[in-house]
Amino acid sequence: MEYKLTFKSYNDALKKNRLLGLKCKACGAITIPPKMVCRQCTSLDMNIIELSGKGEIVTFTTVNVAAEGRQGEVPYTIVMVKLDEGPWLMGNLIDIDPATATMEELIGRKVKMGNKIFPGDKYSAGESARPLFSFDKTCELVGYPPYSEKTEECK
Ligand SMILES: [Zn+2]
Repeated sequence: MEYKLTFKSYNDALKKNRLLGLKCKACGAITIPPKMVCRQCTSLDMNIIELSGKGEIVTFTTVNVAAEGRQGEVPYTIVMVKLDEGPWLMGNLIDIDPATATMEELIGRKVKMGNKIFPGDKYSAGESARPLFSFDKTCELVGYPPYSEKTEECK
């Protein structure tokens, strides 16, 4: 068996702000991050598709204790986002103060994906990208860093 979409390809796309997933030909479910089989029906028959990266926050957690080597990142907020295409994706959320984020403020908010590239550490095989979400507001600045790109609506 071989991976139709390898984690490396998924990660390389993520670094370019593109979110790839696998759409099952048997049941239509979308699987991300990539796995060898459909998350819904375990079929191997899937096509690579590109997702919008847009969705809404389902739940979140704020991290105050950093993993080794990441002390400079805390506190930060991790969100679980239900993408417009259906699957859920976990990522970091910017645009907020993690210390004061509330359920009322975050649950159900529309967000869109950018990405953040983390240097390799002893737990990973080199540099990897992690989804980074921000609130989906027309004309807000996106990109990371330096938040200098305009959204499509503003061009
Ligand atoms: Zn399936």
